Amino acid sequence: MSDENVLANLAKAVVVTMHQIPQLDQLPVDQLHKIPLGRLRRDATRLHAVCRYQKGVKKSEISGPENVRCVDVHPAALTEDWRRYAAFLLYHEYLHALGFAGHDRTFRNLEALWPDVEAQNMGKSFGNHLRRRAAKWLWTCPQCSKEHPRTRRGMGRYRCRECRVVLVDVKVGPDKPNA
Ligand SMILES: [Zn+2]
Ligand SMILES: [Zn+2]
Repeated sequence: MSDENVLANLAKAVVVTMHQIPQLDQLPVDQLHKIPLGRLRRDATRLHAVCRYQKGVKKSEISGPENVRCVDVHPAALTEDWRRYAAFLLYHEYLHALGFAGHDRTFRNLEALWPDVEAQNMGKSFGNHLRRRAAKWLWTCPQCSKEHPRTRRGMGRYRCRECRVVLVDVKVGPDKPNA
């Protein structure tokens, strides 16, 4: 299945789930399917997904899906391993699309209603996954072997938080397993 189809199917499933969340039943959930879906650049490492509003619309003026230009999701989240997290990302961006522009308490309370609680907590490991894919160097602790994937060398400037030993630079080989 192509990324586009995976994304379209996920989005449909997310909207179906949203229709089952009573706290959302006054909101234009049935308009969400009109929002074009896209993918972030493959090498993005900080952003996991984004809700892009129409040009000229201020965040305080967002009233619903008609103010949204598109929702983009990281392509690495569309692989089977991360699809549950991608569904949660879509849910998060759809809440923005419903007019909740910031990450305030109301937003966080709604976000926590997503039934897949485990997926809600996959952000950190997905971030690590992205950094590991992009890494050229592993700052490695010679004592406990903990690795910190980075794009640049550490040049002996950093120490292991646990062991206090200086981290050494290990080049990521061409056969890195998580590429
Ligand atoms: Zn957000
Ligand atoms: Zn260590």
